Amino acid sequence: MPELPEVEVSKLGISLHLTNKIITDLIVRTPKLRWDIPTGQLKLLIGQKINAISRRAKYLVIETDRGDIIIHLGMSGSLRVIDSEVELKKHDHFDLVVGDKVLRLNDPRRFGALLFAEPGQQHSVFAKLGPEPLTDDFTAEHLVAMCLKRKAVIKQVIMDNPVVVGVGNIYANEALFLAQIDPRTPANQVSVAQLTELVSVIKIVLEAAIKQGGTTLKDFSQTDGKPGYFAQSLNVYGRGGLACLHCQTILEQVKIGQRATVYCPKCQK
Ligand SMILES: [Zn+2]
Repeated sequence: MPELPEVEVSKLGISLHLTNKIITDLIVRTPKLRWDIPTGQLKLLIGQKINAISRRAKYLVIETDRGDIIIHLGMSGSLRVIDSEVELKKHDHFDLVVGDKVLRLNDPRRFGALLFAEPGQQHSVFAKLGPEPLTDDFTAEHLVAMCLKRKAVIKQVIMDNPVVVGVGNIYANEALFLAQIDPRTPANQVSVAQLTELVSVIKIVLEAAIKQGGTTLKDFSQTDGKPGYFAQSLNVYGRGGLACLHCQTILEQVKIGQRATVYCPKCQK
């Protein structure tokens, strides 16, 4: 599943090709992904200039004066910028055409989204989102306040979008390992010092992944493969039953909220 770093790298990758370009056509091949696609409204953007491409949580926002296109990659979505004559593949649902190039959305599992926002209006999908983890809005004070009365385990709290956006399962596992916090600890029992450290390492792991993605990423203009997905060096995620890289203790794997959770019983308290 694309997580925040992949969406950020996708943003950087497609921005290079699309910013300041004129939308010459919009082709919707599927009426519905996770939600109905507002094809009529999207078509209003033909002839508009793409002013910028931004990201909020895991949504990409293609901004024009007449409104914004909002894209979510869901479980399996990916974007490519390719020549418009490149043959269609199965699950190619959407083309944003800019002259002889297209931004093409492929999504086999169709949990992604393609939405429209009126100029200057906030789409309802953004209504309940907490701060961006890589901005100064995500502070230790904020996380401490959010955890004060929460009995849910800390891993679930940091993956809760109203608390902070974009901390998916991989990065929650990794951040809790680096902050030496047992993921099963009720949030209101994690110390202020630990939460302060957690905020800091969440920023570090996400920034490292973006940096790594930016350097290892395949070109967004290639016609095969899956641009936007990248392998990362991980300490705990996917390593249940293997030795802790810090102390050699065997890492434990449990499920929290149906999600694979791996931790070191010695390092994480
Ligand atoms: Zn360990």
